[in-house]
Amino acid sequence: MTDTTSKRLAKLLAAAAMLAVCAACAAQNPKYIFFFIGDGMSVPQRMAAEEFSRKIEGRGLTINAMPVQAMLRTCPVDSLVTDSAAAATALACGVKTLNGAIGTDRHGASVESCASAARKSGRKTGIITNTTLSHATPACFFAHCKHRGQYYDIAVDLAKSGFDFFAGGGLPDHGKTNETHWAEYGDAIKLAEANGYKVVRTKNDFLALAPGCGKTLSMFSKSHMEHSLDMDRERQPTLAEMLKKAIELLDNPDGFFIMLEGGQIDFAGHGNDIGTNMRDMLAFDETVRVAQEFLEAHPGETLIAVTGDHETGGLSLGCTGAGYNFFIERVAGQTTGVDRFSNESRHMMRKRLEKGETPEFEETRDLVAKAFGFKFEGDPEKDPLVLSKSEYERIKSAFENDVEYTRSKVAETKAHDAVRKYLLASTCRSILAEKAGVSWGSAHHTALPVMATLQGAGAENFAGYMENDEFGRRMKELCAR
Ligand SMILES: [Zn+2]
Repeated sequence: MTDTTSKRLAKLLAAAAMLAVCAACAAQNPKYIFFFIGDGMSVPQRMAAEEFSRKIEGRGLTINAMPVQAMLRTCPVDSLVTDSAAAATALACGVKTLNGAIGTDRHGASVESCASAARKSGRKTGIITNTTLSHATPACFFAHCKHRGQYYDIAVDLAKSGFDFFAGGGLPDHGKTNETHWAEYGDAIKLAEANGYKVVRTKNDFLALAPGCGKTLSMFSKSHMEHSLDMDRERQPTLAEMLKKAIELLDNPDGFFIMLEGGQIDFAGHGNDIGTNMRDMLAFDETVRVAQEFLEAHPGETLIAVTGDHETGGLSLGCTGAGYNFFIERVAGQTTGVDRFSNESRHMMRKRLEKGETPEFEETRDLVAKAFGFKFEGDPEKDPLVLSKSEYERIKSAFENDVEYTRSKVAETKAHDAVRKYLLASTCRSILAEKAGVSWGSAHHTALPVMATLQGAGAENFAGYMENDEFGRRMKELCAR
């Protein structure tokens, strides 16, 4: 080898090494970061929805096909079973804390979130959810307080956050007068406006927002938004529509950080409402495809991370009556969330009783058929959605129970313990779950670990089994760079 050749070779090798280093630093420094949290989404929800999506849409879930996987232990410092606040504090801030704590450690001291770190490092920041914007999961990304119920204080922290984009439900207690900072800040929404936020309340105004519009606070409900099954799409944007708008507004050369929560998955888990849970899972999965389109256009500088915060409902794929079978496609005909069905059926009964009439089962039957996809005519041997005689009897007797209970409460405007006292909704819910081969072990959270899946720049940093706060610390590290 001549001298010149070896010099050339050395130069080439040095250039190649530099390229490799740059590729590695690019790979570890995503400019654009998507952090997706399915509330109440653990392995059972992912697997049930995987099967549901294959049967209904002919494809598996996007979130389950991502190339890097992790498994996160979820316990907070004071229990084995976490609530959403402690779980989100771990994921957002990298610190395990007490159940109920928002962005604070076990001693009550504030801890910085990855979203704040991303903002400090020059990225634009966005928060999206279909619960209230001050609910535990989103709150941990911008607020600090000891108790998740301090909605006013959380709303004030939102108004002071400086984040660029908020979209979701409302800010309950934003004008509450007896909370800590009232004298100092007054109404939290007015404070947000004073701090430069454009407040948006309709879908049309939201869709009309264009880059350069400044900081936005978009609220499509006074409280939580609706389940995917129940939402009014004329009036409210889907999670995917909210994410598309966030990308459009936040895209800039310095990058962005967007946290999107699928919060209704958890509510359907608490309600043991399988059809609603599956639809909320699909709506969440759809949002990740939106991020993937962005990743394809910005390869090497975009990270997509998807995780749950805990499991909700103790969902089992398989149940005693179904043997070794699972028929999740049978929930595809459910068109109404169980809570909404319960309200509608009780309303119907109350109206009849107030007029001095007796509610007829036939009328409610149509409502049951429409809400759950059940059939009252036909051969149950040939069509599993046709109700068997015993299922029919269970529904009818639940209806009679509810009529009697409504009659005893007809003067009252609100029923506080509807779930225990009214049986029709819970009976229909149980029959549908049995037909699908699904069972639920809890109305609350369980201690199962959650699965995280990732793709894109820096994804490999998250692989393996770890504590949820370790996952949060790794995320914060990337966001800080
Ligand atoms: Zn949660």
